Amino acid sequence: MRKPLIVGNWKMNLTISEGVNLVNSVIDAGIDQLKVDYGFAPSFVALGEIKKYLNDSHILAAQNIYFEDSGAFTGEVSADMVISAGANCVILGHSERRHIFKESDEIINKKVRQAVDKGLNVILCVGELLEEREAGCEVETVLRQVALGLKGLNSDDMKKVVIAYEPVWAIGTGKTASKDDAETMHREIRSFVSKLYGENIANDLRILYGGSVKPENIKELMSAENVDGALVGGASLKAESFVKILKFYE
Ligand code: PEP
Repeated sequence: MRKPLIVGNWKMNLTISEGVNLVNSVIDAGIDQLKVDYGFAPSFVALGEIKKYLNDSHILAAQNIYFEDSGAFTGEVSADMVISAGANCVILGHSERRHIFKESDEIINKKVRQAVDKGLNVILCVGELLEEREAGCEVETVLRQVALGLKGLNSDDMKKVVIAYEPVWAIGTGKTASKDDAETMHREIRSFVSKLYGENIANDLRILYGGSVKPENIKELMSAENVDGALVGGASLKAESFVKILKFYE
């Protein structure tokens, strides 16, 4: 059985002290870590401080890394740097990286490979634009992103990978994919991964849904067979709403 996983992606929000307050409020709410793996993706500068309040089971994800080890790459942050700050995971391929910062599948793949080589877990985000869904090519788009994102990874590397299906039209818009739309895409992703890596790896792979997840829709989404958790943006910025999401099991 796949254990549910829910991660709050803070994006470019919250100062260090605001982040610490949020994390402490969430932890104080007593989330059952036997029922759900959960964690936070703060900004780079907050990673080290947030780490102090977490236990070894919490996910602490960076929101990005660069694919080189070190060198003259002003403004970039390496895998070793985020690991030294306490991160055990990194979000890669987020639609904001793809569309605002023009990261190609090739760049994302280099980052994925660098992350797993360095021992980080990876949340690889994939998702179609509204135009692509309207044109009926959402499955093709998403599976292409999965294939290119995972290129060069072996079966062992796949143990460090989580895929987050985040339809771009649902991110930060208040529009959520229906349970059926999410389930259909998650099933497609799992069967595609099964063709690439075999049934065991596909069955163990956690596939998260992301896109306007809120306390009001988490239970419904989590009831889908192939939805194994969520990547939560806006609703992870307030302890009250994030705790309600994390306690979907109640
Ligand atoms: C995200 O940032 O990954 C996300 C899904 O954002 P939101 O929940 O705000 O749509």
